[in-house]
Order: sequence, then structure tokens, then C-alpha cells
Amino acid sequence: MRRRLFPSNIRFKLVVSLLLIVAVTGSLSLVIGVNIIDKNLVREATESVRNSLAATTELYNEEVEKRSRIVQYVAKTSEIVQATMTGDRAYLREALGRIKTEFGFDIVNVLNPDGTVLVRANNFDAWGDSVAHYRHIQWVLRNRKPAAGTGILGPENIRNEGRNLAERTPIKAVPTPLSRRHESSIEDRALVMKAASPIMENGRMVGLLYAAVLLNNNDSFIDRFRRLLFKEERNRGREVGSSTIFLEDVRVATTVMDSAGKRAIGTLVSDEVFRNVFEEGRTWIGPAFVVDSWYISGYAPLKDIDGRPVGMLYAGVLKDKYDDVLRTTAVLYLLVIGLTTLIAIVLSIYLVGLWTRPVRRIMAATQDIADGNYHRIETLPKDDDDTRKIAQGFNVMAAAIEERDRELQAMAERTILKSEKLASLGRLASGIAHEINNPLTGVLTYSSLLLEDLQGTEYAKDLEVIRDETLRCRKIVRGILDFARENVPEKILADINAVLDNALAILERNVHFQDIEIVREYDPDLPRIPVDVHQFTQVISNLAMNAADAMPGGGRLTLTTSFDREKRRIILRIADSGTGIPPEHQVRLFEPFFTTKDKGKGTGLGLPVVYGIIRRHNGTIDVKSAVGRGTEFTITLPAD
Ligand code: ADP
Ligand code: MG
Repeated sequence: MRRRLFPSNIRFKLVVSLLLIVAVTGSLSLVIGVNIIDKNLVREATESVRNSLAATTELYNEEVEKRSRIVQYVAKTSEIVQATMTGDRAYLREALGRIKTEFGFDIVNVLNPDGTVLVRANNFDAWGDSVAHYRHIQWVLRNRKPAAGTGILGPENIRNEGRNLAERTPIKAVPTPLSRRHESSIEDRALVMKAASPIMENGRMVGLLYAAVLLNNNDSFIDRFRRLLFKEERNRGREVGSSTIFLEDVRVATTVMDSAGKRAIGTLVSDEVFRNVFEEGRTWIGPAFVVDSWYISGYAPLKDIDGRPVGMLYAGVLKDKYDDVLRTTAVLYLLVIGLTTLIAIVLSIYLVGLWTRPVRRIMAATQDIADGNYHRIETLPKDDDDTRKIAQGFNVMAAAIEERDRELQAMAERTILKSEKLASLGRLASGIAHEINNPLTGVLTYSSLLLEDLQGTEYAKDLEVIRDETLRCRKIVRGILDFARENVPEKILADINAVLDNALAILERNVHFQDIEIVREYDPDLPRIPVDVHQFTQVISNLAMNAADAMPGGGRLTLTTSFDREKRRIILRIADSGTGIPPEHQVRLFEPFFTTKDKGKGTGLGLPVVYGIIRRHNGTIDVKSAVGRGTEFTITLPAD
């Protein structure tokens, strides 16, 4: 099965990460952007309403000022002064009537200096009553100066000024969810814009001209304000801007329409606004629910001549307009983000593909190597330096791996060949040895017999040579048979320390060991292990004989045993202080017939036999040696 070295796709991960970044930053910027726009919109709307309200107040004050000037001018005309002095009511009726229609006043009166009415242009038949208690009139009488402003007339006063006015005044107050009052009532007071001026003759006040405009149900001002301030801007079929005049908390003139499309005259302002404007006497700006919609609203107090609030001016813009702008902006924003995300997706897929191409090439090559094909990465002209370096490094690595693999393979082949060769060699050798063994025995027997018979003759010497050489042949033949013998070891549980001692007891008697000190370093707690005692004795004997050969002038032979509890094996070390083995010989030690000893002394079969026995015990044998210092053989045997 093909192994996957890279189960997850780098390209996919990169694209997903990039997209995540785009998505996160996109939505963040959407939230922040819409928020900022919303804040700015609200600020802008508030600012615009503040300006509109200021302009409304300005327009209103201008209107008051204009009317004040008219009244002052008329009060100065000699005809009026004359007629007032002489009490010419007929003339005054006609003159004041003209002024009333021409300048759009509802009330134009001339008063006597004591505050009694001389002429009412709007209600000629009602005269002689005193209006000295009207605040404005009181002020003008006292100060002999003109005055103008806003005020409230009670129902009785309005009735005195004429039936037509009394009919136009009453307004049904309609409570709204947030209003201060919750019961409907009739507002029968009148909010008026008024101006008064003393009529002077030679520094003497001969009378007083008083004129007023009824604001209740008066559309003309309010429509003009709206027209001037908000033009005709519409949103979803509705006027965006609106203007209102309040008598206290009642709408007495307004452009705000109710759901039926009628002017929302009489509806009450919210308690919050009322308290702010009336109790604190300040301008209030903010979102307010007006009649049936949210408006960004501004309310400014209207004060009477004593500075007391009597009403309010209102300017507002439908919040819808800003909400729509915000919605449109948000949708646009979303579209832009969507589009950029789409572009980002396409671009990132393309770019990531481009960037990861070298990586993917290397990945593919690596996979190839894992599969056993020695792939080289070709560098392309457009590759950057890093890619080129990686590719070069990769190719070097691939070459090294290929080389090593080839060597390993060759070595494995050689090893197999060698062991096969050795095996057949062993079979051949043991065959020959068997065949030779019998005739050799014959030669040995007869040469020995002949030697006995011919002892002391001239043939004795030659026969001795024959016998000795035959003995040497037999030794070689035995060695070959030992080496080639693949007989299964007869294992019994044995104490290695005891086996060592038995073997050494025989060896110590040998002449070779005369000058050799034997040191035993046994681990007393060795477990008993299964060994073929006879074969193992031969191992020790072969190694000890070699050691003795390497120490012709004497030396020390150290035998160490120990138990490796972790790996459950016995370790046996046989070390000598002999000549040591040069490295080029170390690799050949276990080769059959490798010997450095003189003919007749060494057969080169000692260590191969040892090796065979150890291997048949599932053990290992290792050698460490330093020339001139000595040699140490380490044997391990499994305990189980
Ligand atoms: P042989 O003893 O017949 O030569 P072996 O297989 O026993 O054959 O040993 C092979 C060679 O390894 C020896 O000829 C010797 O050169 C070397 N050798 C073995 N053991 C030792 C040792 N303890 N010290 C030095 N050389 C050794
Ligand atoms: Mg030997």
C-alpha cells in the first residue's frame, strides 16, 4: 500500500486561513464601519436639527420683530395720534382695519392711557373695558416703550377680542403614550404673538397701539418655516422635516401629520421633553417619538415678556431618512465586503497554489522516495533562491539515500552469498573430513605399530614424522568437524560460574597457563540458564587458549560474569592483557581458517566454532581489542 506522507493538504489549510482572516477583518470592519456611520449620521442629524431649530427660532423672532416695527410705525403716524387724542373711533376703526388685513393681524386695538379699550378693529362694538392687566400692556404703560413677544390669552379675553377668534382658538388636547397628561381635555387658551407701542404726543402718552396674531390653528407661519428650512424633501412619500408651535405641551400649529393625513393639532409632547424645556427652560435635542414616528427632534422654549416659558418651537426630521441611509450604506458595505471576499477567495486560491507549487513538488518527490523511486527535483528558471536551495538540498539527500540503499542492498546480497558459500563450504569440508578421518586412523595405527617395531632403527625418525603429521591432520579434521557440526546443543539448566570453574580447572594444569594469573570476578546471584555444558566448556577453552597464545611472556586473564536484569541476559567477559588484535584482523576473526599463527599451531577454526556455539544458544559475541594492551571478548546469553 502507498504510504501518504502528507495526509492533510497544506494548500487547503492556507486558503482556509487566508479566508478566515478576510472574513474576520471583513465582519469587523463592517461592524465598526456601520457603527461609525451610524454615530456620524446621528451626530449629523442632531446637528442639522439643532440648526433647523435655531433657524426656526430666528424666523419666529424676526416675525415678532417685524410686527413690532409695524406697530411702532403705525403708532407714530399723526393721523393715528390725532384720532386717538380726539377719540375718533370711526376713523380708527377704518385705519386699524386696513392695518389688520394688510399685515395679517388678528387683533389691532387702540387703548386709552388708563388701559381701557378705545377701539377694537376686530370687535368694534366691544369697548371701554380695561385690558390694563395684560402683562404686555402693563409693561408698556409703565415703561412708555414698545414691547413685543409671545403670550397667552385666557378664554374670556379671547371672547372679548371677537367671536371669530374665540371660534378658532379651542383645541382638543390628545394624549400620547409618553405625554404628561393622559386625559383628553379642551385647550381654550390662545397662544399669541403680540406687539404694543405707546402713542405719544409731545412727550405725553395719549394712548397705546396693541396688535396680536393668534397662533392656535394658524398654519401660515408653520408652513413657511418648514418650507424655508426643509424645502420639500420627502422620504417614502412623507415630508422629512416638520415644524410645530406648542402652547405649553399642546401642539397648536404643526406640519406633523397624523396617520389619517391630517395635521396632528392637539397632540401632547412627551413628559420628558416638557420637563426639560419648561422646568429647566432649555433646548432639548434628541430622538423623540412624535405622533406616530420617530423623529430627530429639537424643542426650544417660547417665553413671555417676563421670561416665563409659555410654549415651544419644534423642528424635527424623520429618523427613517437616516435609518434608510444607514441601511443602504450597510447593504453597500456588505456588498463590497462580499465582493472583496470573493476576490480574496479566488486570489488566495490562485496565490496559495502558486506559492505552494515548489512545496508540492518537494512533497511529491518525497512521496516518491518513500515509495522507493529516487526522484530528483528539477529546478525551473522561475524558481526563487529558497526553492532552488531546497531542491538542491533535497537532491543531495535523495542521492545519498539512493547510494546508501544500493550499498545496503549489495551488502545484503553479499552476506547471503557468503553464508550460502560458507554453508556449502562447511558441508564440503565435513564430507572431506569424514572421508579422510578413517584412512587417517589407518595411517596413524599402522605408522604407530611400525614405529614400535622399528624403534631404534634408521626408519624410526621418518616414522615419527609420519605419525606427528598424521596427528596434525587429525587435529585439523577434528576442527573442521567441530566447526561444521550443526548438532543441536543438549541444554541443561546450569550455573555459568560453575561451568567456568570446571573449564578453568582443566586449563590451569596446562603448561601454557604457568605464568598467567587468572582473576575471577563472578556475580554470585547469576540465575541458572539452559546451556550445553560440553559445548560451552569448549567456548571457554578456545577463548582462554587464544588468550594464553597472546600472552607468551605471561599476563592476566580476567573472567567476569554479570546479570542484566532489564534485558534478562547473562554477560560473560573474558579479557587478557595480551598483544591485542589490529583492526584489520578484528573483522576477520570469525572467518574459518583465519589464523596468524604458525603452521601446525593454529588452524583458524577456534573462533568460528565459538561463534557457531554461541549462535546456537541465541547469544551474541563481541570483541574489543587494542594492540599492545589486550583483548576482551564479551558474550551474552539469554536467561530465558
Ligand atoms: P587459531 O587460534 O587457530 O589461530 P582462532 O580462530 O582461535 O584460530 O583465532 C584466529 C586468530 O585470531 C588467531 O590466529 C589470533 O591472531 C587472533 N586471536 C584470537 N584470540 C586472540 C587474543 N585473545 N589475542 C590476540 N589475538 C587473538
Ligand atoms: Mg585458537
